[in-house]
Formats: sequence, structure tokens, C-alpha cells
Amino acid sequence: MNVAEWLRRTGRIAPDATALLRGTVPVASYSEFADSAARIATALSERHGIAPGERVAVYMPNCTEYLEVLYGTWHAGGVVVPINYKLHPNEAAWIIENSGARVVIADAGSHEEIRRLTSAADAVTLSIAGDDFAEMRRAAPMPMPVERGRDDLAWLFYTSGTTGHPKGVMISHGNIHAMTFAYFVDVDEVMPADAALYAAPMSHGAGLYNFMHVLRAARHVVPDSGGFDPAEILSLGKQLNNVSMFAAPTMVRRLVDHAGTEGADGAGLRTIVYGGGPMYVADIEDAVATLGARFVQIYGQGECPMAITALSRALVMDRTHPRWRERLGSVGLAQSCVEVGIAGEDGNMLPAGEKGEIVVRGAPVMLGYWRNPVATASTIRDGWLWTGDVGVLDEDGFLTLTDRSKDVIISGGTNIYPREVEEVLLRHPAVGEVSVIGRPDPEWGEVVVAFVVARPGMVVSEADLDRHCLSTMARFKRPKAYFLVDELPKNNYGKVLKTTLRARLAETATPSEMIE
Ligand code: AMP
Repeated sequence: MNVAEWLRRTGRIAPDATALLRGTVPVASYSEFADSAARIATALSERHGIAPGERVAVYMPNCTEYLEVLYGTWHAGGVVVPINYKLHPNEAAWIIENSGARVVIADAGSHEEIRRLTSAADAVTLSIAGDDFAEMRRAAPMPMPVERGRDDLAWLFYTSGTTGHPKGVMISHGNIHAMTFAYFVDVDEVMPADAALYAAPMSHGAGLYNFMHVLRAARHVVPDSGGFDPAEILSLGKQLNNVSMFAAPTMVRRLVDHAGTEGADGAGLRTIVYGGGPMYVADIEDAVATLGARFVQIYGQGECPMAITALSRALVMDRTHPRWRERLGSVGLAQSCVEVGIAGEDGNMLPAGEKGEIVVRGAPVMLGYWRNPVATASTIRDGWLWTGDVGVLDEDGFLTLTDRSKDVIISGGTNIYPREVEEVLLRHPAVGEVSVIGRPDPEWGEVVVAFVVARPGMVVSEADLDRHCLSTMARFKRPKAYFLVDELPKNNYGKVLKTTLRARLAETATPSEMIE
């Protein structure tokens, strides 16, 4: 079934419910939202030749029109190619060509350049701001969404790809169904009074939260800033109430710091779903202490969006459990639509307590990589998606992520998991942020080095950090060198770029100070 059917249904059963808001200002009801999508569908198919399965690329910052374009494309049976707006137009043009998009919808600031860059491709670029879009909205509504099956493509999402070109992850209508239904079971309930706040890029995971909110006739709010501004979020919470949002751990941290300095308690924010990168135990404890029982964790990846594991609100808050803190450091339990296993290098499943690569299978797992059978075959083997993450399951089924497999440091033949060292360093009161990587070493293969950002107004010394590590951790795991830096390099989604740190390390002959 076509996911566009969900909007059509809500448009009929809750026509007057507010659907789209810019900040606190309502801009469309559900009947208007559904009507607009049906009109865009006609324009895409009749004027621009979007036949079922054909791609529509979207290159624009967060805006309410984003949702109209998504549903318009699906209504027409098309496939959305969401492009991270922070990518350079050249990178966007590469994705447009690779996906074979026939239509590109871009914002006022970039459509001319995209048109120029893709002039050789068979794609028409339309502006969301000018007459192009207004014209689309004036087309006659297409009465019914084009029929789509479980394995028909809906969302062609390009992975951030730290090396080489990104790969297009093929997400089907069936994948979205599974992910959406599991959300209600494993992550959070959604009520008609709720508001999904898009403070993270809609081109990425945050955009996928629309489905649950469309199904429940809840509101969709694009902040005026179009992105993440802690003060704005806290104020929208108070004004709109029942706000839910996705936030990467770095965003949670900034929100909590801001709330702490303002004495805010997060009133009106119902749920903050965090994930997309490691949330350190010290940080989530801080977050709960400041903002209360508002947090739910998910673990997913583009290849199995949102739906590998979840750590529910109740589990985040269950301080009475003897292993509560251990669980807080985990990513929770397999969601109800998937099986999760830990595989050894030989591909055999490992028992609880043993570390290996996390594998997952089930209905939300991608169809494969777009026009890339080699990458697909090496990632999906015997029905299991190999996530590239290393982790361990406990006897109760809680999964703890240690690292990306490529980030594991092998020193003197022993595996050292950077996350473990990072968790320890973060417990030092003067440490704000940290990232641990391996540095090639002639004697040990690799040695552990740490990049450390001090908390504002605080000073850390290498000797102090070394003492701190020695008091809690095996000697061999402790960093052999520290780099005190003002900030860590992060990608557009706030993830620390370990590849950039490795490159920096390669350029620096000797660290600022060494601790032997
Ligand atoms: P992406 O495909 O860009 O969404 O990145 C997915 C990757 O982010 C995963 O493979 C993990 O390495 C990481 N990730 C996602 N969720 C979590 C989480 N809750 N905790 C730690 N890492 C996570």
C-alpha cells in the first residue's frame, strides 16, 4: 500500500485538524495538506512526466512545503530523493544524476545553480518559492494515490559516506510501514494533540517522523529558524505543548546546557527521541536530571531506518533496576519488527556477552543500494544486514554499541573500543566533549589518542586526565596522547568525524604533549 494513502485517510477523517505550522502559525489543515499533495501529484505526473517509480529529488532546507512535496511525490507513485541541504550544490548534483531524478525541487537560493549544474542530466529543476510550485498547487487533484506494493521504492536516501561517493539506500513502502508501526509499539505513542517538531534536517531521519504524526492527525511544526535553536525549541514547547522531536546526542547536550543556564525544565516537550550517534551515560543522566522523563532512544541507520532497537522512556527512567545504569549505556532492545544478532567474523552468531558485528533482519531493512549490486551483496548476506557497528547483547536482550567496526583500535593485538575510553573521560568534571581514535604505531600497531574539549571556563591537564583514566580503566586502554582542542569536527548531522581527526593526526608529527 502506498504511504500516501495515510494522508488521504487523515485528510478525510480529521479535515479541520491543524496539520502544518511555521513556528506557532498554522498554515494548513489536514484537508488542505492532503488536497495540496493530490494536486502536486497531478502536476508531477502530467506536466513533468513522473511515472510510478520515478525519482523526485528535494534539495531545500526544512519547510512545511517539504511535507507537501513528499506526499505529492508518493501520491503520484514517485520516489523521493531527499538531499541534505548542507551538501555543496556539486555534491547535490552528483546525487541528482546518480539517482536519475527527472524532477528536482529546490529552494529559492539554490535552484538556479542546481539547474546549471544538472543541465546535462535529464532533470527539470523547479523552485519551491516561485511560480513553479504555486502552479503545481493549482493542478487538479489526483483522486487516488497511485497503487504501490510492499517492495516498491519510496525513499532513496543517500548515506553520508565518509569516504568515496555516497550510496543510495533503497527504502520501500513496506519498509516505512514496518518502521512506523514499530514506533507506536516500541518507541512512543502519538496523540492527535501532539506536534512533531522538525529541528533536525527533514532530509534525514527527522523527516521520517512525519508518518506517525500524519497517521494520528497530529501537528507538524517547522521552527522559524528552520533548524536547531535551543531557545526557540524551549519556547515552542511552552507555546505548542505536547511537542515531540528527534535530536542527535550533540543537540540534546546543547538543549540541556541551555535549559540548565536558563533554569528551564522543558515544559511542553513531550518526547525527545535521541539517536544517530553515541549518547554517553553521563550526558543522558544530565539530560534527565535537567529535563525529566522526556527521553527515548532509538538505534537505526539509513539501511534500517529508525527501527533496529529502542530504549523506552520507562527503561531510561527505571532507576530501581539493579542494572539501570548499564542499560542506560545501551541502545535498548530489538524493536518488534526485527531480529538482532551479533555475528563473529566467520558469520556465525555469537552468544550473549560476546562482541561482534551487529546484524539485523526484518521488514524495515532496505531493499539494497541503488544500482550497486556489489555493495548490496556485501552488506546484506543471507538475509542479514551487516550494520558495520560493533556491539554486544546481554542475557536480557539489551544491545550495547561499542563502535563502528572501522573505529575499533587494535593495539598490541588487543581490541580497544573507543566508546569505552570516551565514557571514562567524560566522567571527568572538566571534560565537555571527547573523541578517541587510534594512531598508527610501529610498535603496537595502533595506540589510543584522545581529542578533548574542556567544559566552558574549565581547564584540563593531560596529567590529570591520565590519573583519571588510571583510576578506572586498564592501563593499556588509556590514551597515550591527548590533544586539547576548542571543538571537534562534526558532519552536518552533528556526528563527530573521526576520519577528519585521523587525517589531522596524520598531518601532525607529534602531539602537543605525550604521556608515556
Ligand atoms: P546513519 O545511517 O547516517 O543514520 O548513521 C547510522 C549510524 O549511526 C549507525 O550505524 C550507528 O553507528 C550510529 N547510531 C545510530 N543510532 C545510534 C545510537 N542510538 N547510539 C549510537 N550510535 C548510533
